[in-house]
Parts: sequence; C-alpha cells; structure tokens
Amino acid sequence: MNAFILVLSIGVQFATALYALTLIRSTGKSIGWVLLAAALTLMGIRRCITLYNQWSGFRHAHLQTELVALFISVLMFVGILFIASTIRKLRHVEEITRLNQQLERERGILNTLVERMPDAIYFKDRASRFVRVNPGACRIFGASDPESVVGKSDADFFRAGEAAEYLADEQRVMETDQPLIGKEEHECWQDGEMHWVLTTKMPWHDQHGNTVGTFGISRDITDLKAVEEALENANEELRRSNVDLEHFAYVASHDLQEPLRAVTGYCQLLERGVGDKLSAKEKSFLRGAIEGATRMHGMIEDLLEYSRVHRKGEAMGVTDMNAVFEQAKASISAAAESAHADITADPLPKITADEKQMVRLLQNLLGNALKYRGTKCPEIHVSAEDGADTWDFSVADNGIGIDPKFHEKIFLLFQRLHSRAQVEGTGLGLAICKRIVDRHGGRIWVESQPDEGATFHFTIQKSLGKTTHARMPVDA
Ligand code: ADP
Repeated sequence: MNAFILVLSIGVQFATALYALTLIRSTGKSIGWVLLAAALTLMGIRRCITLYNQWSGFRHAHLQTELVALFISVLMFVGILFIASTIRKLRHVEEITRLNQQLERERGILNTLVERMPDAIYFKDRASRFVRVNPGACRIFGASDPESVVGKSDADFFRAGEAAEYLADEQRVMETDQPLIGKEEHECWQDGEMHWVLTTKMPWHDQHGNTVGTFGISRDITDLKAVEEALENANEELRRSNVDLEHFAYVASHDLQEPLRAVTGYCQLLERGVGDKLSAKEKSFLRGAIEGATRMHGMIEDLLEYSRVHRKGEAMGVTDMNAVFEQAKASISAAAESAHADITADPLPKITADEKQMVRLLQNLLGNALKYRGTKCPEIHVSAEDGADTWDFSVADNGIGIDPKFHEKIFLLFQRLHSRAQVEGTGLGLAICKRIVDRHGGRIWVESQPDEGATFHFTIQKSLGKTTHARMPVDA
C-alpha cells in the first residue's frame, strides 16, 4: 500500500514538474515556473529514494507521511492548473482588448475618410438603392442627413435618362465584376442643374465573396471642365487667328510684290533714261529708292517663305541629314570661301522630316554663323545626338556671340540686333527656323555669351513618321 502511494506521489510530482516546464512556453518565461519545476523534481527524487529504501528493506515508508506528501502533490498540480488557466484567460482578455482598440482605430480612420471627404461616397444594394452615403453625397443631393437618402435611388435625384444610365453602369459592374474607373458624367438634376462629375464605381462583396451591390465615389469637376472648355476655346481662337495671320502675311506679301516690282522697274528705267541729266543729289535719291525697294522685296520674300512653312510644307519623309548638310553648305559656299570658313559636321542621322525645310533650316543657321563671325576665321560645326523621343542637333560657331537677354527675342519676326549698315538681313531668318522646327514637333534655342561664339540647338521629333502633319488648307 505504501509503495503504491509512493509511486502515485512520485508520478504526480514529476507530472506537475513537467507541466510547470511546459507552461514556460505558453505563459511566457518565468523564473517562478523553473523554481517550481526544480522543487517538484527534487521532491520526486526524494520520494524515489524512499521507494528504493522500502524495496531494499532498509527503511519502511511511513503511510501517513506519504499520504500527506501525495495530498500536497495533488494540491500543487491542481493549483498550477488553476494559475495557468487564469493566466491564459487574462491573456485572452488582453488580446481581445488590443484587437478592439485596433478595430476602433481602423474604424476611426475609415470614418474620417468617408465623413470628411467632400466627394460623394455611396454604397448601393443590388437594385442600386442607396444603403449608405457620406455627408459629401448628402450635400450634393441637397438632403438633410445621410439617413434620408438611404433606400432612395438615382431616379429620385436625377433626370430619367441619367438615372437609367447610372443604373445600367452599376448592373454592368456587378455582372462583369469589373470596376468602372474615372468616367466623366454629365449629371442633370431634376431641378435642371447641370454638373460634371468624375466617377469610379466598384463591385461590393460581402465576407463570403458574394456581390451585394456597388460602391463608388464621384468628384465634382464642373469648375475644372469650365476651365478646360475655356482653354479649348482659347486654343481654337488662337489657331484661327494664327491661320488668319498667316493668310494675311501670305496675301500681303504676295500682292505687295507686284506694285513693288513696278516701283523698282520704273526707278531703274528712270535711272537709265534720265540718269545722266540728274544732279549727284538726285541720283543718290534715286539709288536710295531702288535700294529701299530691293530691301523691301527681300523682306517680302522672307515673309512669304515664313507663311509657306506650314502652307506649302512637303510631306515628311526619310531625310539623310548628311546630304542636307552638304546641300546647305554648298548654298553658302561663295560666302564661306571668301571668309575662309571651316564648316564641319559629325556623322548625322537619317530622320523623318521635310527635306527642303531641313536644308533651309541649316542654311539659315550656317549663313548666320558666317554673317556674325566678327574678326576671327569662322569655325562652324554641326553635330547630332540621339535624345529619347527626339534627334537633338546643334550648330556651334566661334563668332561674336549673343547677350543672354536677347536669346528669346532673336526668334521673333523682324527682330535684329544689328543695323543694316553693320550686317545685311531681314530679321526673319531665325523666325523661319523656329517655324520649321515647330512644324517638326521640336524646339529651338541658343546658348551663347558675347564674344564667345553661339550654339544653336534644335530638336526634331522622332515620331513624326507616325503622325500626320496637315498642310494649311488655303493654297497659293
Ligand atoms: P537677320 O540675320 O536677318 O538679322 P535672323 O533672324 O537670322 O535675322 O537673326 C536675328 C538676330 O540674331 C540677328 O540680327 C543677329 O543679331 C542674331 N544672330 C543670329 N545668329 C547669330 C549668330 N550665329 N551669332 C551671333 N548673333 C546671331
């Protein structure tokens, strides 16, 4: 009997020690559990020694002592069970409180978004009746509070046509399970008010993945639309006035040529017919008139060319810029030779462009580099780089340079920085260059400092081959 009680008490003590150790894992590391396990193990060992003594007949265990020891062991086991379960319960309550706080925070964030957003946010059931709307939607609907909108549908606020369109959109969103993103809607309210809104609608799923309706957000873009429309009108107006201006420049320059030719012709006849009878002063007047008329002819020619850049531009085609460079260089060869100019170019690319206009562009830039060379022997170099969407060309010279405050002005019509007495010119060369570059979807600019030469950069769009560049409708 004693032996049985001893074995039972040893079992309970070791089991309790083992359980105390396993609790370290589930309830967290604690020195208390370790000490308890150690104490119980020692007690168990002590009981084992008593059992051994009894078996070897060395000393008999005392029944009453062993019963008390068993009772204490069972009590300790039950105590540990109780403590462990209490700790677990406390942990559980802590976890629930933490989850609740997290949930509350998430809800707060979501509520702030929905409640404070000035856009209309709404949830609708499968029949497109409002289930929940935010104050933003309420304000737009003119409703007193969100609850008063619940159960209503778009048909209660918008005209029949619009309401039917929105309903169809929402049915489609649910059927296809695909969102409707960024649709511009022209809302007509029942009271006749019109608004533009940008709407996104999504299918609304419950926790099992079933589609229970739709939800969406609509932003009022009426003001933005008005600005867009005004901008479009202004652009259209600008385009029209550009066409008018171009037409005017063309007609004026074309029609002015005839009387000008007559003036020059009659002056020359006069010079030949009565030239020897005129005094030196009268002869210089007549020369002045002829020179003025010739100059005006040059300006009219350039103006005509300017107006023809769009009007008479050729179709874009593959253009070898090396050949273009050679043509442009040949056209100014006389002036280049007399100035002992060194005109060079890197290997240039083949691009999509109007070849004649490319020749004209380089001719103007090379011609200017020669004209504004100053006292040095001109060194002019043309190069090209492959930009991402463009070909980037540059024409660099070692001439007189340009003050940065004139870098933009020189591309305007009739803008010259030098008098005719210094250098001949019409002030249209760079304006024509700019117009040609504009037509090729690029831009032109200059980098220069006085006396440090000038580098003219221009870009040509690579994608020109894919786009159509309409010529001006009115023809010569
Ligand atoms: P024009 O040469 O007939 O005067 P442009 O439109 O070709 O007209 O040039 C405008 C002005 O820009 C010129 O009067 C000149 O002062 C300046 N310019 C143009 N190219 C250069 C250059 N390579 N170096 C210095 N100045 C230049």
